[in-house]
Amino acid sequence: MDLLPVFQDVKGRPVLVVGGGTAAARKAELVSRAGASVTVIAPELGDDMARLAAERGLAHRSGEVSAADLEGCALAFAASEDMALNERVHELAVAAGVPINVVDRPELCQFIMPAILDRDGVVVAVSSGGDAPLLTRMMKARFETLVPAAYGRLARFGGAWRDRVKAAIADGDLRRRFWEKVFEGPIAELVFSGRESEAAHAMEAQLEDAGRAASRGAVGEVWLVGAGPGDPDLLTFRALRLMQQAEVVLYDRLIGDGILNLVRRDAERIYVGKAAKNHTVPQDEIGRMLVRLAKEGKRVLRLKGGDPFIFGRGGEEIEQLAAEGIPFQVVPGITAASGCAAYAGIPLTHRDHAQACVFVTGHGKDEKLGIDWEALIRPNQTIVIYMGLTMLQRLVKEYCDHGGRPDMPAAIVEKGTRPAQRVITGRISELPALAEAARLGPPSLIIIGSVVTLRRDLAWYETEDGAETG
Ligand code: SAH
Repeated sequence: MDLLPVFQDVKGRPVLVVGGGTAAARKAELVSRAGASVTVIAPELGDDMARLAAERGLAHRSGEVSAADLEGCALAFAASEDMALNERVHELAVAAGVPINVVDRPELCQFIMPAILDRDGVVVAVSSGGDAPLLTRMMKARFETLVPAAYGRLARFGGAWRDRVKAAIADGDLRRRFWEKVFEGPIAELVFSGRESEAAHAMEAQLEDAGRAASRGAVGEVWLVGAGPGDPDLLTFRALRLMQQAEVVLYDRLIGDGILNLVRRDAERIYVGKAAKNHTVPQDEIGRMLVRLAKEGKRVLRLKGGDPFIFGRGGEEIEQLAAEGIPFQVVPGITAASGCAAYAGIPLTHRDHAQACVFVTGHGKDEKLGIDWEALIRPNQTIVIYMGLTMLQRLVKEYCDHGGRPDMPAAIVEKGTRPAQRVITGRISELPALAEAARLGPPSLIIIGSVVTLRRDLAWYETEDGAETG
């Protein structure tokens, strides 16, 4: 480590900024936001600096910089375009013992400005010691995905309770565990979602419980999380955050390795996969497992493909949790229809083609499709069929028997959003033959409607590998 990271209190202290351009304005803004009393010396101010000076009431003057300007300064910045002037300011600052930063001259800097992520008072500063500013900005972007926007709110919430918790829980270890639970558990989630008064109630309850719960073993909770259609980039921030906190994860077949790798390393992984015909773990058994693990005090992640409430049987799982009084939360995910349509270039609605879009499952109970075709086959309506591949032949026959046009454009997206994604398009009557020829397998999604012709500027009449099908 070449440089020592510190957070300096500059409130009310004088800070000198020499230069009126954009670089100078960026520094002046940061120090001014931290409460410093900033003086800018420059012959004239650029647009950014002029706006900043007006907004934040910075002092400005032109003319020479002298030793007197540095007197009592907490920090100084030489950020003018005149290199000779910057060097002179550097000398004056060194003589006055004021830490100096010279823009674009790392060898003349006694401190550098890190890339900063400010979450309402919770600050992450990243530095590469001046070697690779771009890299630090990229790291900052990664932190942005990890630190929820409401972290500052959580810090203030914690601050407000600090004294009470300290008085109530004398033991340091117990107190640490208490706060861990607050910051990683349902209370933090309540604060993140803006339900502070509920969080305060929960805090009261948790405080009351604190002593007893430690010996009795507290109830855990279950997070029912939608992981999207496969591309890990389509996870939500909240999904990722919970994935990194969970102690146990139950996942199914739709969850690929790319996503599973993002679950906390030391979390226990339980496969409860379900293939179309092969129900590995029965649904109510999954529910019972969730209840049992939560009762052991674990934080349990139930990771589901797409969105948990769209053909995901998420509703049934939470019924069981609710019946047992297990705390849970549901995190939405990008459903296969949105993911596949976007990645295949098929808009599900379009002013000239479809004003409505319906999602339906092709996998009914007891071998019956039970599809209300009258409601589905409507002008200007796109139909998306989940779990329809194994029943494709029958689906297409019923579609045509109920008055659907046999030449209606349709598509099948196999393994949508994943590297191996394949798309076939054609007239609906030809779809079963096309699917068989391409040996499509699960997971596959069927899209029916004239929106399919919009795929890649009407080049819809071909399979992914370019073979003509019309
Ligand atoms: N809850 C999920 C759907 C579960 S049902 C969601 O919201 O997406 C499973 C069906 O979803 C599969 O049979 C298939 O039709 C569809 N599906 C899920 N992921 C898919 C993908 N990556 N590509 C194509 N279809 C997918």
